[in-house]
Amino acid sequence: LTTRILLAMALAIALGTITFNLLAMPDLNDSVRYVLDDLLASGLFALIGKIFVSSLKVLVVPLVFVSLVCGVCHLSDQSSLGRMSLKTVFLYLVTTAIAISAAMTLANIVNPGVGIDMSVEAEFKAPEAVPLIDVLANIFPTNPFRAMAEGNMLQVIVFAILIGLAIGRSGVPGERIGKQFSDWNEILMTLVTMLMNLAPYGVFALLFSLFASKGLGPVQELLAYMFTVVAVLLVHGIVVYSAMLRMFAGVSPVTFLKKMWPVQIFAFSTASSSATLPVTIKNAEQNLGVGTRAASFVLPLGATINMDGTAIMQGVATVFIAQAFGLDLSMGDYLLVIATATLASIGTAGVPGVGLITLSMVLQQVGLPVEGIALIIGVDRLLDMLRTAVNVTGDTMVSVVIAKTEGVLNHERYNDLSISATTN
Ligand code: ASP
Repeated sequence: LTTRILLAMALAIALGTITFNLLAMPDLNDSVRYVLDDLLASGLFALIGKIFVSSLKVLVVPLVFVSLVCGVCHLSDQSSLGRMSLKTVFLYLVTTAIAISAAMTLANIVNPGVGIDMSVEAEFKAPEAVPLIDVLANIFPTNPFRAMAEGNMLQVIVFAILIGLAIGRSGVPGERIGKQFSDWNEILMTLVTMLMNLAPYGVFALLFSLFASKGLGPVQELLAYMFTVVAVLLVHGIVVYSAMLRMFAGVSPVTFLKKMWPVQIFAFSTASSSATLPVTIKNAEQNLGVGTRAASFVLPLGATINMDGTAIMQGVATVFIAQAFGLDLSMGDYLLVIATATLASIGTAGVPGVGLITLSMVLQQVGLPVEGIALIIGVDRLLDMLRTAVNVTGDTMVSVVIAKTEGVLNHERYNDLSISATTN
């Protein structure tokens, strides 16, 4: 199945780009244009793509809730939850800080913003920044149904933990309900498998309509910027994660990367770590052997607060914009960028394009012009897809490390290459 999804992806990008170029030809026959654009790209394939993403998203809240309740209610030692949370948040913050520091370092060597033409006519309106205190207060739900209806992940996580803890402490009734949650968990996982089997069609439709309508974007002018972002994404996604897996979990990074393919393709096609979450959780538990206890907590939290790929884009973009506007950043500014970018991602769900919103907060913090975002917006979708793949890889890497240190990593499953994300 992974091969089929990969093929679908390659085919969609190639055919989409060809279609985009055909549609750009002024003397293209009207009926050909109608078929290619109205019927196929913006019609049929856009529709299938939307339905595919909706089917993924619809699973997110039920799956996170049910699997986290399961994970917590079966904890023999409930106090370990606090320890696990601290370790998880610490690893998330550290990996993000490493990511953004590497990004700014390489950007200062490549100098992608030097000599950029500033005459682009584009606008970017910065949204109001939410104060950190409100972000933190907002983690605690007042109404669980509203939290679920709005897909507020952190609130759903808090509510699920509370219910799970209570089930674990309720004796016989708790056992009864706990079993039902386990059954629901199985059922939802089966639904994820069913959906993954449709992935080649979904991925093709999504990518074809995207590339046919947007092409590759104004890549040429921003080649140095894109190169810098992609280079750091690759180094971080391959070298840094491999080193951490070896050091903290003592497992093979090659196996990890091999088993991450399907998840990365989902992340790339949807550009959303939240929408990819059902696949990320299933892959971690069933393919990499991460115990439900670790996966059900670490992964939903990561989809919301851990965005290493996004931080990399923000690091490079900050340096790029400063250079394009001929402004200097001091050492203090760099530290401020690291702190703001790391904290700004807390409370923003992993959806397409959210990285640009948090970037505007980072720029405001160090007094750089927010309009600078207009310079890079044209190529952002493509980079968004790539960085989302790194975001979900980072979340999963941390889940493996946490599972290992908590004693819930199934090594046999991890090393068994015959298991794939699509097997039950
Ligand atoms: N699309 C990214 C994600 O979902 C966030 C971003 O960088 O915009 O993880």
